[in-house]
Amino acid sequence: MLICTTPAEMQAACRHVRGSAHSLGLVPTMGALHAGHLSLVSAALTQNDAVAASIFVNPTQFGPNEDYAAYPRTFDEDCRKLTEAGVALLFAPTAADMYPSGNTTFVDPGPIATRLDGASRPGHFRGVATIVTRLFHIVQPDRAYFGQKDAAQAAVLRHIVRDLNLPVELVVCPIVREPDGLALSSRNRYLSAGERSRALALSRALAAAGDLAGHGETRAEALRAAMLSVFSVDAGPDAAPVRLDYAAVVDPDTLLPVADTSRGALLAVAAFIGATRLIDNLLIPAHEG
Ligand code: AMP
Repeated sequence: MLICTTPAEMQAACRHVRGSAHSLGLVPTMGALHAGHLSLVSAALTQNDAVAASIFVNPTQFGPNEDYAAYPRTFDEDCRKLTEAGVALLFAPTAADMYPSGNTTFVDPGPIATRLDGASRPGHFRGVATIVTRLFHIVQPDRAYFGQKDAAQAAVLRHIVRDLNLPVELVVCPIVREPDGLALSSRNRYLSAGERSRALALSRALAAAGDLAGHGETRAEALRAAMLSVFSVDAGPDAAPVRLDYAAVVDPDTLLPVADTSRGALLAVAAFIGATRLIDNLLIPAHEG
C-alpha cells in the first residue's frame, strides 16, 4: 500500500492508478478502523479494480467543545488493516496539508445541513461536505463508499453530489453491529463497561420502533413514542446518564420529519452516554398493501 501525505502526491498517485486500472473506489475515514470501515473496503474491492482509502480527522467538522483532540488515532494498526484488506493507496494528510493558511473556501450544503446532527452540531455538515468534496477532487474516484451508520451524512453527500454534478457514484453500505446490536463506532472505545451496556438503548429503541413498524404501524408519532419509551426506562441510581439528543422519523433524502411512514422512512437516534455522543438509525421500508 502506497501512503501519500500531501494532496499533490495523492493526486499524482491516483492519476497513475486510474491510468492502469479501469475503476477506482474511495473509502474516506477518520481512522481508528473497525469492521464497519472494513466492510466499506470489501464492498469497494468487489466493485472496482483498485481501492484508495483516506484517514483524516477533519477539524472543520468538529465543534469547539467536541472531541477533535481526543479522537482516537491508531495509525499503524489502521495501515496494517488496510494493507491486509487489499487497499492500494492511502491518503493520510495533516490538517495543515488540507487547510493551509489562507484557506477560505468551504462547501455549504444549505438547509439540509441543519437537520438531525446538523441541528445538534452546527457547522458539522459544512465541514463534512468540504472535506469530502476536496477528497473527491484529489482522488477523482469512480465510486465512493460511506456507511448507512451516518445516515444524515449520506443524505447531505447525495445532495452535494447532485447539486455540484460531482462525477462520482455514492455507495452506501449497511450498518455493521456487535452481536448484541450496538452499532460499531470509533467512539465506542470511549465507553466504560457500564456505559457500553447503557449504549444499547440506541439500538433497542430502534428495534422497538422497527418491530411496531413491522406489525403495520405507520404513524410516525407512535414509532417515535416507542423509541422514547426505551430511553425513559430508569437504569438505576448507579447508571451513567443517558441523555437523548434526538429521536426522529424523517425522509431519508431530505431529513425532514414525516408524519406517516407508508412510503418508507428513516428512524434516527442520537444520545449522549456519559460524555460520548453516539448515533444509530434504521430504515423502514415502504409499507406494502
Ligand atoms: P468515520 O471514520 O467514523 O468517519 O467513518 C468512516 C465511514 O465509515 C463513514 O462512511 C461511516 O458511515 C462508516 N461507518 C462507521 N461506522 C460504521 C458501521 N458500524 N457500519 C458501517 N459503516 C460504518
